Amino acid sequence: MTTYFGAIADDFTGATDLASMIARSGTPVSLRLGVPDCPPQDSTGVEVIALKCRSTPVAEAVCETTAALDWLRGAGARRTFWKYCSTFDSTAQGNIGPVAEALMAALQTHLTIHVPAFPENGRSVYMGNLFVDQQPLAESPMKDHPLNPMRDSNLLRLLAPQTTGPGHLIPWPVVAQGMDAIRAALPQNDRLTHIVIDTVADADLQAIAQATAHLPLTCGGSALGGALAAVFVKSGSLPATATTKATAPKGDQLVLSGSCSAMTRAQVAHFTALAPSHKLDPLTLAAGPAALQLAQSWLATQPPGPKLIYASADPEEVAKAQRQLGAERAGQLVEQALASLAQTAKATQIVVAGGETSGAVVKALGISRLTLGPEIAPGVPWCFADTSNGPIALALKSGNFGDDDFFSAAFAHLTA
Ligand code: ADP
Repeated sequence: MTTYFGAIADDFTGATDLASMIARSGTPVSLRLGVPDCPPQDSTGVEVIALKCRSTPVAEAVCETTAALDWLRGAGARRTFWKYCSTFDSTAQGNIGPVAEALMAALQTHLTIHVPAFPENGRSVYMGNLFVDQQPLAESPMKDHPLNPMRDSNLLRLLAPQTTGPGHLIPWPVVAQGMDAIRAALPQNDRLTHIVIDTVADADLQAIAQATAHLPLTCGGSALGGALAAVFVKSGSLPATATTKATAPKGDQLVLSGSCSAMTRAQVAHFTALAPSHKLDPLTLAAGPAALQLAQSWLATQPPGPKLIYASADPEEVAKAQRQLGAERAGQLVEQALASLAQTAKATQIVVAGGETSGAVVKALGISRLTLGPEIAPGVPWCFADTSNGPIALALKSGNFGDDDFFSAAFAHLTA
């Protein structure tokens, strides 16, 4: 069928998060990893393209996202969504702003909205300031992120150095009046404008989605993507057929964790008490192949059952590795090691913690398309895929998502 809603996600966990939020509206979602090589043939009403462009150079991110847009338009997409993290993960260079403006230029539109909020997961925006639970973003653990430390909480200030067009806020007192008030507050001029919209609850998201569903390009977190899909289903632009149930392959279970987020570190601490675990350190990985070989032989000698390999470390340990290796090299060493372990492991049920980490693992496994399975926690579904070694179940978890017991809860979902 012809695609109506096309989405581009800046990382792989973000893409599965978005796909699961869209699937809640009952419409089938197709999830592609990377821009497909061949032109659209078997597309569905919603197509999500997962990229790994959150931390790449701006020109590369713009090139990849505009290629994804071309593919989506070729599939027939009438509405485009630029999905980024609910904690607005970016730097002064980008890539949120430059990609939004490249997509606006390609779509010949001068107006877009930015709605990262995900109230169900504690992300809200008030007076333009992003909160993680009760903390402003810049006081939350995101201030210590290894790749994009977030040191400001104000979305307009965060966008300013990344964009050429001005920012504009629709504040919560307007949002609270509902869809008509929000639509009336959209600027009417034809200047390139980025509109940040306050969002503190799901009801706000629904009103925002109704008020902006006509825009060619919308930008934000998975919760807005889900709310927009619900509007499109209600208006008949998207079908509301129930998704087919896929079955999970049985087999060995493995957690690979490269996220250093506070929640992932708590999950790692919780799981090490339940399952055998092995820790990787970027400094020993940098010293030569022995550290990776050790991890491989550790994995090969473990009894059947769940196990964990992780590099997740607290901010002091991360800072130490980064001082010696640089942030990019430290990150790459860990990502490459975890990706290589995913390739050699015999596991058929794999949980990966971390957005960049998930991108590296999925690329190494050569997976180009995922089928959506059950939701483990808000924004984290199981997904099923075919690899050259047979079918596999994958859960790609964004660093801060899930509760302490996420890893064991994930495997319980498949054995239930
Ligand atoms: P999240 O979803 O929490 O943002 P990501 O996987 O996107 O997680 O990012 C975490 C980054 O930190 C990855 O590039 C990973 O390789 C890197 N990393 C993991 N462990 C360490 C460590 N001990 N020292 C330095 N960097 C690390």
